[in-house]
Amino acid sequence: MTSSDRREMILAQLQAAGNLQVADLAAEFQVSKMTIHRDLVLLEEKGLLKRIHGGAVPRAVSPGPAGDMKSFPEGRQGECLICTRAPTQHLLYTLTGKHGEQRQACCPHCGISAHLLYGENIMMAFTADYLTGKLHAAQNSYFLLGSVAAPCCHPSILSFEDEQMVRRFQTGFGGTVGRLNDAIRYLREEMVLDPEKDGCPHCAAALKA
Ligand SMILES: [Zn+2]
Ligand SMILES: [Zn+2]
Repeated sequence: MTSSDRREMILAQLQAAGNLQVADLAAEFQVSKMTIHRDLVLLEEKGLLKRIHGGAVPRAVSPGPAGDMKSFPEGRQGECLICTRAPTQHLLYTLTGKHGEQRQACCPHCGISAHLLYGENIMMAFTADYLTGKLHAAQNSYFLLGSVAAPCCHPSILSFEDEQMVRRFQTGFGGTVGRLNDAIRYLREEMVLDPEKDGCPHCAAALKA
C-alpha cells in the first residue's frame, strides 16, 4: 500500500466513523504512530481533517463565501444532497468540498450528479462497494452504468471496488462498466438525451438550470 492509499483510507474511515485514534490506525496499517501522525498533519494542512489529542476528527464545516454558487446546497446531515433520500451503507457516496464541508449522496447516481453540478467544489469523493459496503476512493471504483439492478435512483449507477466483481454482476444485470469519468459522462448524456425518461427529476432540473 502506498502512503497516498493509506491517507485515502484514513479519510474514508474518518468519514464513516466520525473520529479516529492514532494508535488504532498505526495498528491497523502496521506502521509507526509517527507515520500516522505525519499523515494526519499532512491531511490537516490540506484542510481535510482536524487533529485532536491522540487522533483526528472531520474538519468543522465552514460556510463558503456568500454567493459561491458552486458550493454544496444547504441540507441536513444524513440526507442525500441531491434528492434528500436517506443513504444506506451499500449505496453511500460521500463528498468533501473545498472548505472541508462533507455531504452524502443516497447512491452513486446522486454522487455522480453532484460531480456534474458541483464538480469544481469537490476535493474528494468516496463510494461504498455495492456488495461489501466498504468505502473507497471514487477514482479507484468501477461503476456499473444503466444496469437493470436499480435499488435507488434512475438511471442506475452502482459502485464496485473490484473489477472482477463488477464484471460478474454485469453478467447478471447488464449495463456497461466504466470508471469515474465514464460515469460522469454517462449521466450527463442520459440526462441531456431525455431528462424525462426515468431520470431523477432533481438531477434533470438542476442540469437544465
Ligand atoms: Zn439522491
Ligand atoms: Zn439514490
